Amino acid sequence: MTGKGSPDLIFVNGTVYTVDAARRWVQAVAVREGRIAAVGSDEQIRAAAGPSTEAIDLRGRMLLPGFQDAHVHPPGGGYEMLHCNLSDAYSLEEYERIIAGFAASHPDDEWIVGGGWSMDIFPGGNPPKDVLDRIVPDRPVYLPSRDGHSVWVNSKALEIAGVTEDTLDPDDGWIVRDAGGEPAGTLHEGASELVNEFVPDETTQDWIDSLRVAQGFLHSLGITAWQDAIVGVETGYRTFEAYLAFAGSGELTARVIGALWWDRHRGIEQVDDLLAARARGPVGRFSATSVKIMQDGVIENQTAGVLEPYLDGEGNATGDRGKSFIDPEELNECVTRLDAEGFQVHFHAIGERAVREALDAIEAARRENGMNDLRHHISHIQVIHPDDIPRFRELAVVANAQPLWAVNEGQMLHLTIPFLGPERSTWQYPFGSLVRAGAVLAMGSDWSVSSPDPIEEMHVAVNRQAPPSYLYGGESGEVFLPEERIDLPTAIAGFTINAAYVNHLDDVTGSIEVGKYADLAVVDRNLFAHPVEEIHEATVQATFVEGERVYAEGL
Ligand SMILES: [Zn+2]
Repeated sequence: MTGKGSPDLIFVNGTVYTVDAARRWVQAVAVREGRIAAVGSDEQIRAAAGPSTEAIDLRGRMLLPGFQDAHVHPPGGGYEMLHCNLSDAYSLEEYERIIAGFAASHPDDEWIVGGGWSMDIFPGGNPPKDVLDRIVPDRPVYLPSRDGHSVWVNSKALEIAGVTEDTLDPDDGWIVRDAGGEPAGTLHEGASELVNEFVPDETTQDWIDSLRVAQGFLHSLGITAWQDAIVGVETGYRTFEAYLAFAGSGELTARVIGALWWDRHRGIEQVDDLLAARARGPVGRFSATSVKIMQDGVIENQTAGVLEPYLDGEGNATGDRGKSFIDPEELNECVTRLDAEGFQVHFHAIGERAVREALDAIEAARRENGMNDLRHHISHIQVIHPDDIPRFRELAVVANAQPLWAVNEGQMLHLTIPFLGPERSTWQYPFGSLVRAGAVLAMGSDWSVSSPDPIEEMHVAVNRQAPPSYLYGGESGEVFLPEERIDLPTAIAGFTINAAYVNHLDDVTGSIEVGKYADLAVVDRNLFAHPVEEIHEATVQATFVEGERVYAEGL
């Protein structure tokens, strides 16, 4: 035992996977004043208990460090949970039922908002306005897709925004049109802004309410810390004030690193605003020390930046190489400046050209500023050119993976592979290759894009097959690129110590070691004692932050 006095809390009779450097297993853990005071055998830990020590008998269950999500959007996810939420459904019939039900039960909402639809439900990934017009003819409807890159609107919303057949596509997106040129109901990427500017802004109170719901949900999945991948002050999700207030009031029980949104319509002058925002923290368990730069879009609507042109779906090359939202020269300059100011840079990069541009920008910063410990990271990394795999290690860039996407399902089979072609399709989600090349692999969900359940995500990381609970039309049982599977210890590290690393929280969390915070998750079984095909069957039964229960359904 470290320090004086008996522990406040002990966990005994468990299978405790510490995730320390030696990946040591113990039976029991003692907690005092929110920190791990001792780890060891039942005998050792019971001997340290005093009359006021609470003892939790784990009855063989697994104790793990609390999970951390390295890329997630909790205010957006919570907002969806509180509004017209399509993310738990997977058919047009269900969507219609949910939208009609929500509209009927919210007669005073001026706009019907929410979202979470899947592209592969609709031909070409484009939902039509007439479905919405039939259900909600009199009020505007604005529903972002699950991945947030497209929006489904009705005629009323288009009318209010003045979007007609005469409206030109913006540079960074497009309006889906019918044969006659009329907007058909789907707006991709930047085109969503044409309508979004008429949607009433969420208030700080809306975001606080959303954050509260989201935090409860994430705690129920064993999550005790996360990196919020879009914290907007003026643009993006404008959640910065909400985090400050929620953390300041003590309600934020999770540890949160905010990645401040880089406005791609502004230039390097915005660094001053980002510095001013960062200086308002840390507050409670929140600090905004990262900056999120979105370099491209997604494959499914061909806005991800690729090196060779997309195919047309029939095997023929198009002339289209997708987007670079920020010109690479300018990207180098901005990243070098952010790096010099001590910001971590958190990239969104999906296509192999965007990944390369992000790596090039970090290389430019390293050349100018030298090596440092900012732990820049690239999220999504859907397609990586094989030549770029070793650069993660060389440039000390963390690979931030969303493992749930690495499966053969509708979106992959119909909206991705036919447009990438056979060779490039094998460069997708190369987690095994990154690990073999010595990269640090951190993991996250991108919720509400997809489920934030780390157990489900680890299941896919290890198996590259969808669990039965997988929502997105598990059409093929085939393992997706089997050589890119990773083992269970690596997957667990991705959601614990490595996610803590990218969050700069690894000195105080991410493993069960004396002196670290008692941020812990209880799982109903030892994950290692069952076949890997059964990982998804496990459930989290309790979650602790600094030794306090933040979720305890099963305990
Ligand atoms: Zn995201």
